[in-house]
Amino acid sequence: MTRAVVVGGGLSGLVAARELVVHHGIASGDVTVLEARERAGGVLLRGEVAGRTVDLGAESVLTTRPEATDLLAELGLAEEAVHPTGVPAAVWSRGGIHPVPRGTLMGVPGDAAQAAGLLTEQEVDRADDSGREHPPLVEDVSLGDLVAERMGDAVVDRLVEPLLGGVYAGHARRLSVRACLPALAEAAAEGRSLTEAVQAATARSGGGTQARPAPPFASLPGGLARLVEALTDDLVARGVRVRTGTPVEAVTRTDGGWEVRAAGQALPADAVLLAVPAPAAAALLRPELPAAADELAAVPTASMVVVTFAFPTAAMPPLDRSGFLVPPVDGRAIKASTFLSAKWPGVGDDEVTLVRASLGRAGDDLSDRTDDELGALALADVAQAVAEHTGADLPAPLEVRVQRWPDGLPQYEVGHLERMARVADAVAAVPGLELAGSVYDGVGIPACIGTARAAAARLVAGGRMGA
Ligand SMILES: Cc1cc2nc3c(=O)[nH]c(=O)nc-3n(C[C@H](O)[C@H](O)[C@H](O)COP(=O)(O)OP(=O)(O)OC[C@H]3O[C@@H](n4cnc5c(N)ncnc54)[C@H](O)[C@@H]3O)c2cc1C
Repeated sequence: MTRAVVVGGGLSGLVAARELVVHHGIASGDVTVLEARERAGGVLLRGEVAGRTVDLGAESVLTTRPEATDLLAELGLAEEAVHPTGVPAAVWSRGGIHPVPRGTLMGVPGDAAQAAGLLTEQEVDRADDSGREHPPLVEDVSLGDLVAERMGDAVVDRLVEPLLGGVYAGHARRLSVRACLPALAEAAAEGRSLTEAVQAATARSGGGTQARPAPPFASLPGGLARLVEALTDDLVARGVRVRTGTPVEAVTRTDGGWEVRAAGQALPADAVLLAVPAPAAAALLRPELPAAADELAAVPTASMVVVTFAFPTAAMPPLDRSGFLVPPVDGRAIKASTFLSAKWPGVGDDEVTLVRASLGRAGDDLSDRTDDELGALALADVAQAVAEHTGADLPAPLEVRVQRWPDGLPQYEVGHLERMARVADAVAAVPGLELAGSVYDGVGIPACIGTARAAAARLVAGGRMGA
C-alpha cells in the first residue's frame, strides 16, 4: 500500500510530492509520482537550438511572491538565479514598436499619457476615468468590458489585450476581473476610478511591474527548466518513485482509500493528489465527482506554440528591446516575441542570437498547421516588426525549433473563482483527495507551487496520511 499517489509530474506534482516528504514527514518510499510523458516537468522544458540550451516552455518566475524564490533556495539554486538585463519591452502596433507604458496594471493605465503614440490623443483623453461618477460594480465582469466602459475600447485593444495575453493567452473581454486583477475589481466594487486604483497599486509596488527598469523576474543559467530537473533529482535521491511514461487511466475510491489504475496495474493508496491540467483532472474525477468534473471540463484552455529561432549574431540588426507584445486587433499570427539574447544575460553569444515567438490564444486551433508553417508564420511577423523598428532585415535563421503546448493555459473567465470554489467544496467532502495546478489559484509558477504546498498540507491534515 502506497500512502500517497501524486498524479502528474509537472511542477505542481513534483512540489506536492516533495512537500509531503520534506515538510510533512511522510516516508519517501510511501510517495509515488505518476507522469504520463516520458519526462517529468510538464510545461517547464529546455532543449537545444543551434547547440545552445534554452527554455522551450516557461522561462521566468516572478520574484515578488515568495514561493518560487523559496523553492530555488531549498534546492540550492538561489545563488545561481539570473535576472533580466533591464532592456525594456515593447508593444508592436500601429506600425511601430512602442515602449510598454510605465505604471500600468496588466495594461490598465494609471497615467494614459504614458501610452501616447500607442494611443491617439483622443484615446488618451478618453482613458482617464478619474473625476467621473462610477456606480459600484456588483458582480464579476470581464476585465475587457470593465476597462472598455470606463476608459474606452482602445485601451483594451492596444494595451490590456497584449499585456494580459502575455500571461493568459486569452481574451480581455472574456477573462474575469476578479480572478485576473482583484485590486481593480475591489476598486470598481467601491465605485472608485480605475485610474486612481492603478495609481495606488503601482505606487505601493514601487511603480508597477512595467515601470521598473529591471522587472522582478528570475530564471536560471541554462534554462528555468533546471528547476524541475533539480526537483526530480531531489525526489529520486530521497527515494520517492517518479514513474514517467505512466499515464493514469482512473482513480477509484475503495473501502480503505483509493485505487489508481495506470500502465495495466492497479495501485492501492491512502490518498491521491491530482496535479494534472483541468481537462485531465475532469476526466479522472468524473466517476467519483461528476459535478466537479463538469466544472473543470468547462474551463476553456489556450493551446500555445513556442517557436525558437537561432540567428547568426554577426548579421543581426541591433535589438534594443527585450521583445514585444502584439495586440490581437492587428491580426498578426504571433502574440509576442522575446529577444532572449537581449533579455537575459548569458543567452546567446558572438555566433548565435536567440529569439522566440509565441502563437495561440484561447479559441485558436493551430493543431492542423505543420511545424514548418508555424515557423514561417512566426518568422514573417518577427522579421516585419524588426524591419519596422530598425530598418534592417533579419538574416535567415540557422535553426528553428517549434514546441507545442496543447491546453497549456487555463482561462480564468468570468465566474472562474466561484466555479473553483464549487470544485474545492466538492473535493473537500471526499477524504484522501486533493487537487493542485494552474487552474485553481493562478496560472504562474509561484501560484502553482502555492496550490501544491496547500494541497499537500490539506492531505496530511485530513488524517488519512498522518505522519
Ligand atoms: C508556453 C507556456 C509558457 C509559460 N511561461 C510561464 C512563465 O514564464 N512564467 C510563469 O510563471 N508561468 C508560465 N507559464 C505557466 C506555468 O508554467 C504553468 O502554469 C505551470 O508550469 C503548470 O504546472 P503544472 O504542474 O500545474 O502543470 P503541467 O506543467 O501541465 O504538468 C501537468 C503534468 O501532468 C501530466 N499528466 C496529464 N495527464 C496525466 C495523467 N492522466 N496521468 C499522469 N500524468 C498526467 C502531464 O503530462 C504534465 O506533465 C507558462 C505556460 C505555458 C503553457
